[in-house]
Amino acid sequence: MSQKDWFEKDYYKALGVSKDASQADIKKAFRTLAKKHHPDSNENDPKAEARFKEVSEAYDVLSDEKTRAEYDETRAMASSGFRMPGGFGGQQGGAGGASGGVPFDLSDLFGRAGGGFGDVFGGVFNRGGGQQARRARRGADIESSVTLSFDEALSGLTLPLRLTSEAPCASCAGTGARAGTAPRLCPTCQGAGQINRNAGGFAFPETCHECRGRGMVVDDPCPTCHGSGHAPSTRTVSARIPAGVKNGQKIRLRGKGVAGENGGENGDLLVTVAVTPHAVFGRDGDNLTITVPVTFAEAALGADIAVPVPSGGTVKVRLAEGTQSGRVLRVRGKGVRRKDGTHGDLLVTVDVAVPQKLSSDARDALQQFADATKDHDPRADLMARAKDGGAR
Ligand SMILES: [Zn+2]
Ligand SMILES: [Zn+2]
Repeated sequence: MSQKDWFEKDYYKALGVSKDASQADIKKAFRTLAKKHHPDSNENDPKAEARFKEVSEAYDVLSDEKTRAEYDETRAMASSGFRMPGGFGGQQGGAGGASGGVPFDLSDLFGRAGGGFGDVFGGVFNRGGGQQARRARRGADIESSVTLSFDEALSGLTLPLRLTSEAPCASCAGTGARAGTAPRLCPTCQGAGQINRNAGGFAFPETCHECRGRGMVVDDPCPTCHGSGHAPSTRTVSARIPAGVKNGQKIRLRGKGVAGENGGENGDLLVTVAVTPHAVFGRDGDNLTITVPVTFAEAALGADIAVPVPSGGTVKVRLAEGTQSGRVLRVRGKGVRRKDGTHGDLLVTVDVAVPQKLSSDARDALQQFADATKDHDPRADLMARAKDGGAR
């Protein structure tokens, strides 16, 4: 509102208080009047709505000591016959206060109520048209979780996620009061949400028991939300899970959380991903791991072996002559897809398998092999080092 309004409006009269009223008196007067003329208890009563706005505007100016001092000064000038250049006096067009731009925050008055009641008053103000912008509020983040198969985690996918979150109850618009009724100011705390408990001569503020801190009480609760003002709201969002996601990783999907209010940005959706282990493949960062059994002959003589890859199919891996059990072979580019489109590697651990049963032919052949290599003692070096290893 402009100072032009101040010339004409007697805010003290609007609140029914004297010019030297204390802040407490002003606050008290406003609460009483705001309650009385609250449009929700005076439905389709434009007079009450106009009065409610008048009272709100008056309180807005008088509740701030600095603004109040400026207002008093302006009024003093007006009563002494001063006129602003441009003829401010008298040219104002009736419908009070709509030109205003000072944000008026009722949540301050009605206590730490949060959600619901802000909506009540927001509705009131918006109905009047051209009213002050309410404060933009960012929506809350929502957490969700999803379990992916190993293959899904590797390739990435888009999933529909059903989300349940608390939203203002649609039946009562978040007030908690049955449609057609309105919550009233809590008589115990007068809307503050807090009361002072006296103990040993000291006053301790504590949450009001009657309204549980909301500052308002509901006589006839909304049957849909049982007076809470909140209702679970279910919606489905499509969540893009990128390729290569790891077990336990959190994916942040921007703007898919709770919707912002009054132009505030949406919250985010945080999806915790669980990946079920694969029967064969493991993950080591961007690399995939696999253990492949080979025969003693393959390891000793060298061989090309087929190794499975996660996308299906196989890749040919060459074992060099004399490959040791436990040796890790790297197959480039067959690992996990990275963000930049490149891939990690497939790490193949060679596991020399010892046959549990031998045919007599195989036994004979192996015996021949043993005879042919009997001069080689694979533990000779070990024995020597075991003996020397303790010395410096
Ligand atoms: Zn209370
Ligand atoms: Zn409700």
